[in-house]
Amino acid sequence: MSRIAFFCIPAWGHTNPTVEVVRTLVRQGHQVRYYSFAPFREKLEDAGAEVVLCDGFLPPPPSNLDKKVGKDFSALMEMAADTTLALEDKVCRELTEFQTEAIVSDSVCFWGKLFAWKLGIPYVCSTTTFAFNLHTARLMKPKPGEMLRTILGGARVERKLALLRQHGYPVEKMTDLIQNDNDTDTIVYTSKAFQPKAETFSERYAFVGPSLPEIPKREEKERPLVYVSMGTVVRGKPAFYHRCVEAFSSMDVDAVLSVGTEENLAALEPLPGNVRAAARVDQLAVLAQADVFLTHCGMNSSSEAIWCGVPTVLYPQQSEEGAVADRMEELGLGLRLKNEGHIREAITTALTEPAYRERTCAMGDTFRTAGGAKRAAEKILDYIK
Ligand code: UDP
Repeated sequence: MSRIAFFCIPAWGHTNPTVEVVRTLVRQGHQVRYYSFAPFREKLEDAGAEVVLCDGFLPPPPSNLDKKVGKDFSALMEMAADTTLALEDKVCRELTEFQTEAIVSDSVCFWGKLFAWKLGIPYVCSTTTFAFNLHTARLMKPKPGEMLRTILGGARVERKLALLRQHGYPVEKMTDLIQNDNDTDTIVYTSKAFQPKAETFSERYAFVGPSLPEIPKREEKERPLVYVSMGTVVRGKPAFYHRCVEAFSSMDVDAVLSVGTEENLAALEPLPGNVRAAARVDQLAVLAQADVFLTHCGMNSSSEAIWCGVPTVLYPQQSEEGAVADRMEELGLGLRLKNEGHIREAITTALTEPAYRERTCAMGDTFRTAGGAKRAAEKILDYIK
């Protein structure tokens, strides 16, 4: 029996893929402690983890959070340093008492990595995005505003790194935190076929494919089902959902919209008979029946679509999502939404050109043979040995 501590940021997209890994480890008799946040507690406890809530240790969110998420890397680094220092007394003591044998930390949950380094505990990186190195960094194409914020924030980040060093964390530069070398044990929740530049990663990287729960069977239905989601972080704006409803109201389809917030939902009423909307849906249950997915190209949403063989209309909002959209387009799994005036046209193309579905299903096969949660659990235990 091993004792393993997981760390993750407060985001569904980063937490979800780890849930089945936790369940697998616990079923095998291992003890899993998960440092997470209130919204994720129930799901993680259901998988068998002992959950330690970190909500009270996060710095207060900036007022313009929506503008910063995924777009201001310096702010993310500062937030991570502050969280590390706020958590360190409690967590370092607890990790020692727990006799932690491995720390599995999300690739952007820098405090997990920092605690592992400080305490000399084996560290496994859990990557829910594409694996990241110098080669894939070039695919990110940050927008000018994002670059400017990173440059302007450089001095603030340097001060935080100096503070971390004073507290005994061996971190020299920002890239020590955001990037892993080829000697770091890393789990990546995609297949080698979907990962760009897969050949540049060492054998220490395990491309295990998405780690998903069981997905309902596809049912017969009268009309195609269109699903729309802009994810759980940025969530999209009411005007965009209005354009979707407008487009779908005159199409022979049914549509489900996940609109992120109750405010977005209220702004859409009344809806035409063929459109349903909710602040949040059971996305996998919807994708299991969907025929096309208009997506922000979050890594999880994209992987779930591929797994279910659902072609996509690609509408990325951030540079990381842009890199996923580029890959989907390059592999012919979806087509880009040129602008919000082309929703009807793009959905119709994805629905009527079978090659999108065929290529998506073939990529889904590479996911299913990659090993999933079972292989991720095996890898974690191998890394401990
Ligand atoms: N999700 C969900 N219901 C929704 C919207 C999203 O269950 O109504 C889940 C989705 O299945 C995926 C995750 O939330 O697992 C979103 O992750 P992704 O990486 O796609 O985007 P993010 O929200 O991190 O931008």
